[in-house]
Amino acid sequence: MNLWDIHTHRRGTEKAIFNSLDFSDIPDQHFSAGLHPWFLDENWEGKLHQIRSVSQQSPALLAIGECGFDRLRGPNNSLQKAAFRGQADLAKELEIPLILHCVRGFDLLLEYLKAEKNPPAIIWHGWNLKPELATQLLQYPVFFSFGKHLQKKESNAAGWLNLCPRDRIFLETDDSGLEISSVYQAASLILRLSVEELEQLVISNWNRISKRKIE
Ligand SMILES: [Zn+2]
Repeated sequence: MNLWDIHTHRRGTEKAIFNSLDFSDIPDQHFSAGLHPWFLDENWEGKLHQIRSVSQQSPALLAIGECGFDRLRGPNNSLQKAAFRGQADLAKELEIPLILHCVRGFDLLLEYLKAEKNPPAIIWHGWNLKPELATQLLQYPVFFSFGKHLQKKESNAAGWLNLCPRDRIFLETDDSGLEISSVYQAASLILRLSVEELEQLVISNWNRISKRKIE
């Protein structure tokens, strides 16, 4: 079975959104492109311009990201906030989701969501924070992608997956080296859904929030 992996750094899988960091090379598969906060610099606007033109050339670009906030690595908050806003605006314009990287930046995301009347669909990838924080995001178009943390039953990720509204759920491998099937397996045990049901759930969740569809 070929299951959708909505965020991976591994190339070459047919049903996967490969996160590309190199905008000069258009991958021959589904992909996302964004400015990771770790690598942001003063030239971010020029790079965002490149991403915009890639998005126009290639319908295989399915999402903007990963991008977002990181207080442990990367430049100062004001640069991170400006670059995030620019990318969120592009996602909104293209009507596709934004894949969020967020480390110690919950407040910065909330600040953006409170100020922005019409944010794009934001998929918080690698979710592993407390359910109390997740519930604060449910009034906004924020979705949750779960990956390697589900392997631990007592993780925050497993706890939130169990409570999370089903129409907000995605699954990913990120840079874990896991097979996507083992992530589906772990989610299937937590949710008491079959892997086939989960497969349909991920596809329908994606297609509800994106103009660029998967099947
Ligand atoms: Zn990643």
